[in-house]
Amino acid sequence: MTTEELENSSLLGKTVSQLETVMEAIGEPAYRARQVYKWIHHHNVDRFEEMTNIPKALRQTLAERFRIKTLELVYRQVSTDGTEKYLWRLPDGRNIESVLIPESRRNTICISSQAGCSLGCKFCATGTMGLLRNLTAGEIVEQVLQIKKLSPHRITNVVFMGMGEPFVNYQRSVQASRILGDPEGVAIATKRITFSTSGIVPKIYQFTDDALPFGLAISLHAPNQKLREELMPIASKFPLDELMKSVAYYTRAKKRNRVTFEYILLEGINDSPADARALLRLLAPYRCKLNLIPCNENPLGFRAPSPERMEKFFSVLLDAPFTVTLRKNRGEDITAACGQLAVEVGREEKVRFIRI
Ligand code: SAH
Ligand code: SF4
Repeated sequence: MTTEELENSSLLGKTVSQLETVMEAIGEPAYRARQVYKWIHHHNVDRFEEMTNIPKALRQTLAERFRIKTLELVYRQVSTDGTEKYLWRLPDGRNIESVLIPESRRNTICISSQAGCSLGCKFCATGTMGLLRNLTAGEIVEQVLQIKKLSPHRITNVVFMGMGEPFVNYQRSVQASRILGDPEGVAIATKRITFSTSGIVPKIYQFTDDALPFGLAISLHAPNQKLREELMPIASKFPLDELMKSVAYYTRAKKRNRVTFEYILLEGINDSPADARALLRLLAPYRCKLNLIPCNENPLGFRAPSPERMEKFFSVLLDAPFTVTLRKNRGEDITAACGQLAVEVGREEKVRFIRI
């Protein structure tokens, strides 16, 4: 099944105006579109029968022609630190993951925008899969809707830091975010929805011009072009200076919004005090936040530096004119952390294959 075929088969993830087209095609008044939209996205119903203000005949017609939810839960794992990992099977048999990270003052869902990823960053497990396909807007939104029902935690934040590159699946990720942030839709505060990109420069310009109310995080991971290119093949196509220009364009246009830079600390690769000084010089002119992330181990051979070395790196940045945070690793015991998604699935499938 292609992404487009899946898009036609489900009403989840459609905008009100797309639903109006559906209603028109089956000879129904346009106002039904908003009602159905709210049932699906706001009231989070699983079945058409639950739509009590829709006439029975229409409910039946819709049930015959369309689906609502399409993600099948394969498993839900809860880490000792409370992190929850969800593995979903898509209608075409592919798998994706979402992660929920509960914290004292917020609960964040990490959602996937693609099955796999085409960009092949050297430290990232998802990158080893290649791109299997783009998710539909519905499949992106549905991760949040289903977790809302399955988790005891109230979801406050959504980040595109699961599998895939949201700016390679730009239109659908944006449409999904509009529905997630719509008070009549999933009703998550728009400023608590964050796109994370490895640096697809033209899309950073488009994201800015589209004047979207969502946050932006840039996966930087290196303070210079040479190292960045080695770690992230996409950096040869969109070099660091071009990336930083596009970020300046974004921060100038969105005066009140800071951009977040993500920097994975990789032992012996980008974690020296000299790297920290270079990073400080690079980011000083920007209204930004820097999020240092200890590398999560996966079979790709990278490791986090020792706590002492990370402390040293951090101390170089103490006087930085921007906020610096060092992220805690979460959910490692269930391989739910960034950069670990997908490996396990692959392993499981191999096991199953051998058994057959
Ligand atoms: N493709 C987008 C968003 C998904 S990747 C991007 O790259 O920004 C989600 C996050 O996981 C990114 O910040 C990425 O840099 C991080 N990540 C990948 N591999 C990692 C690893 N081994 N340890 C820690 N974070 C990792
Ligand atoms: Fe893709 Fe992001 Fe992983 Fe790079 S870090 S391979 S862009 S998912």
